[in-house]
Amino acid sequence: MKTNEYAIDLLAPNVDGKEIEYHIEDAFFQHIDGLVQRGQVTTTLHIEGSTRSVFRFHFHSEGTVFAPCDRCLADVEVPIDTDDTLTVKLGAEYADEGECIVIPESEGVIDVSQFIYELIALSLPMKVVHEDGQCDEAMLAKLEQLTPVNPLEEE
Ligand SMILES: [Zn+2]
Repeated sequence: MKTNEYAIDLLAPNVDGKEIEYHIEDAFFQHIDGLVQRGQVTTTLHIEGSTRSVFRFHFHSEGTVFAPCDRCLADVEVPIDTDDTLTVKLGAEYADEGECIVIPESEGVIDVSQFIYELIALSLPMKVVHEDGQCDEAMLAKLEQLTPVNPLEEE
């Protein structure tokens, strides 16, 4: 089996107090289907789990990512600095309750890559746009020529 540095074994004896630093680059973002496809982020994960059944995952992510500009669609560099906590419990079957994730006791493994991605994506501002005058002018001109597309009909 391939070692996945993002897979955390909750049943391992040393999980309480564990600290892992991830150096996230473009390949990480391209692996996940989402708005952010490039970036350089350092994410530190600190795990508390003295009860061995309920775990607190503290994530700290810092760096820069690129997200498409709402106006011209070209990438905008966005600084990231976010702290988040996720509660992970061992239980009978998998459940995603938003702030709390239940992992089947029989497996005991959680892959945190999707969570790291989502926490970074959620920390982006509601509107990502270039500063005035920084937009891709050629792209703006092209977009203006196009007939407006109903966003619900995209894809
Ligand atoms: Zn722009």
